[in-house]
Amino acid sequence: MNSIAINAKELTKNFNDVIALDNLTLKVNQGEIFSIVGPDGAGKSTFIRICCGILTQTSGELKIFELNWNLHRKEIKSKIGYLSQRFSLYGDLTVDENINFFAEIHNQKNYQNRKEELLEFTRLKKFRNTFAEYLSGGMKQKLALACCLIHNPKLLLLDEPTVGVDPVSRREFWKILSELLKTGMTILMATPYLDEAERCNRIALINRGKILACDVPQKIKQFIKDKIFEVICPDTRTVYHTLLKEDNFLNVQMFGDRLHITTAKDINSQALLNILNKYQVKALSIREIIPSMEDVFIAMTKNQ
Ligand code: ADP
Repeated sequence: MNSIAINAKELTKNFNDVIALDNLTLKVNQGEIFSIVGPDGAGKSTFIRICCGILTQTSGELKIFELNWNLHRKEIKSKIGYLSQRFSLYGDLTVDENINFFAEIHNQKNYQNRKEELLEFTRLKKFRNTFAEYLSGGMKQKLALACCLIHNPKLLLLDEPTVGVDPVSRREFWKILSELLKTGMTILMATPYLDEAERCNRIALINRGKILACDVPQKIKQFIKDKIFEVICPDTRTVYHTLLKEDNFLNVQMFGDRLHITTAKDINSQALLNILNKYQVKALSIREIIPSMEDVFIAMTKNQ
């Protein structure tokens, strides 16, 4: 059995003079949850839309379960579920009716058992007769997911599925995803949230249509060769602007009430404290930290 769900080789997509994907090569293994992370305009949606067959690449090759969109359209369609950013439910149809509608679109005949399973799974059973327009944001999202799963796809493509969803619903959505993974499903998700990406088996960081790094989260964090210190001090905003002038600092970032300062490996906490004293910064705490995904991403996009 082949174990590659998505196999993209040197994919390029141009929209007139905009290069949305630039020679992108990427493999997603069957049964894994894989995230593509990047800022707005990085090319995430374009990649997912090409995987769904909505867009066609300008050049390069793409295979979904070893199949080519040009030759095996119907077969690929039956294997994928796609939740787009603007997935629209029918507000004047009930939960049940929305699922029925998507089952019919996918030419499903005997879908009643699957529907019950999905209603159970998404905990929407007791809302089955509620009109979709009266559901909360989180519930709408779960219903949209149920609609995408009615035809029992093997590969789920999610385009920023939790943007605008409250934290509790986000957690619940993730629980559902982990249940799906247990059934052997492959999930590819685009997300702007680095904390979400960290929960995936593998991550591709992309920017301007190019892959900056692709690996398991732990390995991606090791891409940072320098040291990162977290500094807590009063008036971080002013301190941040002051410290940008310091030559020994490779990078300074503000994370709420704390600063992340990147330095070369040979700087220790005492040396850092001496530098901060030079600027009369009253550090309340200094500690070396393991870089977060966000640190890695900032460092990588800076290098690019
Ligand atoms: P992301 O999902 O990471 O925000 P997109 O894939 O939507 O990024 O966009 C990548 C680039 O391609 C952006 O510069 C965007 O403006 C451009 N783009 C995307 N879709 C179209 C389109 N249909 N027509 C023209 N440009 C597009």
